[in-house]
Amino acid sequence: MNIHEYQAKELLHNYGVPVPRGYSATNAGEVDTAISKIEGDLIVVKSQIHAGGRGKGTFNDGYQGGVKVVKSSEAAQTAAMAMLNNTLVTAQTGPAGRKVQTLYVTEGCDIAHEYYLAIVLDRETAQAVIIASTEGGMDIEAVAESTPEKITRVAVSPSTGLRPFHCREVAYALGFEGDQVKQLSKILSGTYKMFWEKNAMLVEINPLVTDKEGNLSALDAKVSFDDNAIFNTLRSSSYAT
Ligand code: ADP
Ligand code: MG
Repeated sequence: MNIHEYQAKELLHNYGVPVPRGYSATNAGEVDTAISKIEGDLIVVKSQIHAGGRGKGTFNDGYQGGVKVVKSSEAAQTAAMAMLNNTLVTAQTGPAGRKVQTLYVTEGCDIAHEYYLAIVLDRETAQAVIIASTEGGMDIEAVAESTPEKITRVAVSPSTGLRPFHCREVAYALGFEGDQVKQLSKILSGTYKMFWEKNAMLVEINPLVTDKEGNLSALDAKVSFDDNAIFNTLRSSSYAT
């Protein structure tokens, strides 16, 4: 089972991972309210479907992009109305696409660089494996194919749990220094804790970004749960209302 990006980010936020402020919306009124709450120069309108590749997706009426970064309320409204109740086809949806019934309106980030960070369950060893790359963003699949050496894997034994040396290894692989190492460690600790407490099989942050001040935040998130764990996860989570 998957949850939407906005739900995944709410979970991450609850575990201390910095995410841009945002509001979900399912109709024109909610879109207006959400847009009016956004502070800053950039507004991002994001289709909420259970598939990735939204940024490069196409709607079945030809409208391009299931994720739009815009600079005015009017442009955000136009993008939102173009997406809502329209069908989005991405590299991950198959040709039938998915109908967009929910949008997420979030604050934009002035991105310096996009990284990839995920924790996945290795079923064979029952270990969590951290996967990280400096080449995050919308082309991570191509990176995995053509330059797999740019992807770092760090296994974490459940008996020791996540340790500072794991965090440092990942931080250095991503080229972080000083306070960024601390920020990455906090993000990894929160994500790792959430991974186990919510019985996730995958927590993926793509992109994890640095902004122009060098600060880290999670701009996209995907969480997949073990189907056997659905009930417990829903029951114990604060976002499932
Ligand atoms: P998907 O992976 O489904 O294409 P993302 O949420 O990763 O969707 O968005 C695609 C791209 O849009 C990101 O790689 C990033 O460049 C940009 N983006 C997403 N959210 C924001 C944001 N809050 N601020 C600025 N740019 C963003
Ligand atoms: Mg993404």
